[in-house]
Amino acid sequence: MRRKSRKVTLGSIGIGGDFPVSVQSMTNTDTLDFAKTLEQVRALENEGCDIVRIAVPTSDSASVFTYLKNSGVKLPLVADIHFDYKIALAAVSAGADKIRINPGNIGEKWKVKEVADACRNSGLPIRIGVNSGSVEKKLLEKYGSPTAEALAESALSEAETLEGFGFSDIVLSIKSSDVMTMVEATKAVASKCDYPLHLGVTEAGPAYDGIIKNCAGIGALLCGGIGDTVRVSLTADPVEEVRAGKKLLAVLGLSKRGGINVISCPTCGRTKIPLISISEEYRDRIKDLDTNGKSITVAIMGCAVNGPGEAREADFGIAGGNGFGVLFRHGVICEKIEEDCLADRLFEETVRYVKESD
Ligand code: SF4
Repeated sequence: MRRKSRKVTLGSIGIGGDFPVSVQSMTNTDTLDFAKTLEQVRALENEGCDIVRIAVPTSDSASVFTYLKNSGVKLPLVADIHFDYKIALAAVSAGADKIRINPGNIGEKWKVKEVADACRNSGLPIRIGVNSGSVEKKLLEKYGSPTAEALAESALSEAETLEGFGFSDIVLSIKSSDVMTMVEATKAVASKCDYPLHLGVTEAGPAYDGIIKNCAGIGALLCGGIGDTVRVSLTADPVEEVRAGKKLLAVLGLSKRGGINVISCPTCGRTKIPLISISEEYRDRIKDLDTNGKSITVAIMGCAVNGPGEAREADFGIAGGNGFGVLFRHGVICEKIEEDCLADRLFEETVRYVKESD
């Protein structure tokens, strides 16, 4: 069961409550290069990203929000602010839809209050992003290192700071590059408040390692009903983050967009067709296929002896013979196909299925 959380809204998107779990990413262009940043925001939007965060290192760069909005960007945009409260105020004025800060590195309380007041007046939520590098000195002394307990206490005390200013439109994230620490810290926070939670493993590494770490951490929490928005942070093109985030939600049955869930066998000594290349070709062909919100399960199995039965839950699929394969629907074999045509036929069947169910 999903943890009950209060909801916040940013632009057309909601986080928490009954809103679907959203996928976010962050641009890595030079923010001052507005045209390049726009190009990347568009690429993320085309990939199905729900929310885009943009680093705002200087007050000048805050104008990027005005530029993007004037260019027709509809995706909610988050300003990522460190240290200088004035940059946060500039981002609010320039049209950001949410501010991400860590109150601890903004400085004196009155500066944090200025940001909270500006966000309240403009109806913007604030995400408090806590990570291993941002834990306050007193908590490091108390716990000895940025442990899960230290991170959780830091996030809750930063939220209290904003609550002290009458501000509660808050999203919390508790990140670490250590998967278990991130999971334990987020669970601790989840049990002590009802703020919506943004999940992610930070500094997770390049695509392969990073996806595994994020899916382990984010997935463990989502399986327990915890989490309202996710970012799979990777040392890679941000578009890859969106792909991974959407896939993760899809395999957990949490995607609001549907999609194709491919189940394929690992192959074994019974496999007599080039199943790995057939699977790769099929995946390549469906990459840009829109299923119109429908969830479809497609099976790619190595042998007709076990395949159709093992993949009975699939809507349809193929199973290999010797030099040929069969197409089956809900476990029932209905067509024999030449080996070379299997990927093509499976793709055709997918398109037919999408059209038929429209
Ligand atoms: Fe082997 Fe057939 Fe199972 Fe694939 S489906 S792993 S080929 S037994």
